Amino acid sequence: MGAMQDLEIAVVGAGIAGLTAACALQRRGFRVRVYEQAERLGEVGAGLTITPNAAHALIDIGLGGDLERLGVCPERGGARHWRSGELMARFERGAALAERCGAPYVQIHRADLHDALARAFTAGEGSSLALGHRFERLLENEQGAEIGFANGMRVRADVVIGADGIRSAVRGQLFGAGHPRFTGYIAWRGLVPIEALPPGLIEPQSCISIGPRHTFTRYLIRAGRLVNYVALAERDDWQVESWSVRSEVSELLAEFAGWHEAVRTIIAATPPELCFKWALFDREPLANWTRGRVTLLGDAAHPMLPFLGQGAAMGIEDGLVLARAFEASGTPEEALRRYQAARIERTTFVMRKSAETGREYHRADADDYDTHPHTTAESLGLMAYDPVVASL
Ligand SMILES: Cc1cc2nc3c(=O)[nH]c(=O)nc-3n(C[C@H](O)[C@H](O)[C@H](O)COP(=O)(O)OP(=O)(O)OC[C@H]3O[C@@H](n4cnc5c(N)ncnc54)[C@H](O)[C@@H]3O)c2cc1C
Repeated sequence: MGAMQDLEIAVVGAGIAGLTAACALQRRGFRVRVYEQAERLGEVGAGLTITPNAAHALIDIGLGGDLERLGVCPERGGARHWRSGELMARFERGAALAERCGAPYVQIHRADLHDALARAFTAGEGSSLALGHRFERLLENEQGAEIGFANGMRVRADVVIGADGIRSAVRGQLFGAGHPRFTGYIAWRGLVPIEALPPGLIEPQSCISIGPRHTFTRYLIRAGRLVNYVALAERDDWQVESWSVRSEVSELLAEFAGWHEAVRTIIAATPPELCFKWALFDREPLANWTRGRVTLLGDAAHPMLPFLGQGAAMGIEDGLVLARAFEASGTPEEALRRYQAARIERTTFVMRKSAETGREYHRADADDYDTHPHTTAESLGLMAYDPVVASL
């Protein structure tokens, strides 16, 4: 064991990005302590698309079996016209895409992935996950940092990784709090049991319908037993302070009036307790994520709109590249420099492209949806990246 392996690395935030980083570091022999504000682990939310670029990282940390067991690997994807429902574009997924990229394209319940990550981390050697620890303060010195929590605890760490999401308190301590800005989009997320729908409706298995100022994306999770959807709309009148609230199914149906039958049937079949809405926020890209021995990772570093389905994927990639940078470096400063240099350009690109893609999909002109080419993570080449071998 070298000096690098003796470092005490603190990860703030046990979301998908923080836990991926923690597992990847742990598997490379580093000592990691994760601090999470929640008293109990448990992801909220619904489905998540794990594109091959992120699947590489999850397989590297030993979650390949979980992806296979818990996820759905759709054979085909597609884009439908919002009003006619006509299939305007087909995307090959399944074995063909997995072969091309060297890793699968998987759709999974967030809670299932989060649970698999937490189990992998806590089963690993020397792991520690402290719940009920809300990070508040950072006191740095040359050798590392002392971090203070709302519960009065203080701990020393040689390196601190802020993986505490879009409202990151670590980011606030490094670069000033600022405020995430409301993007004008709101999202509804729903889960519908497959048996509540007429047979043959979910074709292709993964599908986006695109129309004026709205999109509706749906796919299967939990071995095909549940349909997960994300419905996005533009609003300038968002008044609700809360970040995630239950929504009425009737409100969502009214929002998608005039849309093709399959969309409306899925919305109408949503059990009332499984329909949520929230406002989408983002931030300007940062030119630097690191100060001293403290850096940012995942949404804390680069929150983005969901139009390319890459937010969690970027955090997962970050985690793996961070661990590789520590493995390949002689000092923590070098590791953080290499991590940031390897990641910032790609994530900034994806942030900007996610916002642009939202504007492309949501343009107000209703009539040219059948001719317009659609930007996707695939068409931008994002799926070809492999964080396990990408240069550092
Ligand atoms: C509608 C929608 C659809 C999406 N679809 C996809 C998709 O298909 N594919 C995809 O890749 N991404 C998708 N995303 C993006 C994805 O959800 C996020 O990018 C991802 O969850 C961010 O993970 P994270 O671990 O960085 O942050 P978070 O999930 O926010 O986790 C942060 C963690 O830190 C903890 N924390 C916060 N503050 C503190 C503190 N002060 N002290 C200690 N702990 C703290 C929190 O409790 C939490 O556990 C979508 C997002 C939205 C809104």
